Amino acid sequence: MKELPDDLFDLAAALVDIPSQSRKEGRLAGILEADLRSCSHLDVLRVGDSVVARTGLGRAERVCLAGHMDTVRPAGNERARVEEGTLWGVGSVDMKGGIAVLLDLARTVEEPVVDLTYVFYACEEIDHSENALGRIAVESPEVIAADAAVLCEPTGGVVQAGCQGTMRARVRLSGRPAHTARPWMGTNAIHRMAPLLALLGSYDSRRVELDGCEYADQLQAVRVEGGVAGNVVPGEAELTLNYRFAPDRSEAEAEAELRRLLSPVLDEVIGDRVEVLDIAPGAPPFLRHPLIAKLVGATGRPPEAKVGWTDVATFFAAGVPAANFGPGDPSLAHSPDEHVSEAELAEARGVLAALISA
Ligand SMILES: [Zn+2]
Repeated sequence: MKELPDDLFDLAAALVDIPSQSRKEGRLAGILEADLRSCSHLDVLRVGDSVVARTGLGRAERVCLAGHMDTVRPAGNERARVEEGTLWGVGSVDMKGGIAVLLDLARTVEEPVVDLTYVFYACEEIDHSENALGRIAVESPEVIAADAAVLCEPTGGVVQAGCQGTMRARVRLSGRPAHTARPWMGTNAIHRMAPLLALLGSYDSRRVELDGCEYADQLQAVRVEGGVAGNVVPGEAELTLNYRFAPDRSEAEAEAELRRLLSPVLDEVIGDRVEVLDIAPGAPPFLRHPLIAKLVGATGRPPEAKVGWTDVATFFAAGVPAANFGPGDPSLAHSPDEHVSEAELAEARGVLAALISA
């Protein structure tokens, strides 16, 4: 049974009106599943609160088109509002606009030149351990197996290639506790943070060009902890940092680079330690891959490096070259005034239709 409109822009508005905060995607998944099941040219699979629809035309190549159904928490914008060709509301740009484009293609392109796998997945906007695409990639990688994938997060209508890797690490600095009246009896671990902070503050971001796109490393302190009492020289202090690394480095290489960068201000003999808390590798741009080159060609605009981490890395880890491309301004994502225009949706649909047509 179809309960969603046919027109692309109306469809996006209807999707905004179906609440789907992370972990609450079930109703939207059910509606998408029913809609896709009404298309006789698609095989539909429900995986938890995610929905996968596939063509089985026996084409030489398969392309996976993916987007997440969940949104962040609404901020007074839970209802769709349409004004002069612009759709406002939670998830409008991130990424129900993209979901509408995917559903429209899934419904209407019955004879693509490549086989297609559409993936509508849950839990992207929360901790990565819950990400349903990541779970599918690990538990049933055959579901997303393809020659190339496009992640339809908003990119302003250009291909944003690859993504940076990201790591959180905790640096523990050691000292020796003492009474503050007799500080010479100890070593102040908080004072020892000064050279570490200076190093982070003056970090000169490494830049690297891959397939003509420039990626940068970034290194930022995100938390500091330390101190025992108002009269104690602290014997320990901790700093958590976030290291964003260009996709020319693997997880192991990024960790080695971080340790090398920090080594001048650490003293392992007295007990300083660096502990990696979590790490997610990036993904290379793959701009020379014929399908991704075709996508870039269809946009008619030069590609850019993706700044940040996205699920193209999940595809890359599963052996599928992927690129970011979707409707709307990515800088509006998660903002209370997020919106996407009818023209942006139509343009993105046109580009993806060109990718999957002759
Ligand atoms: Zn998103």
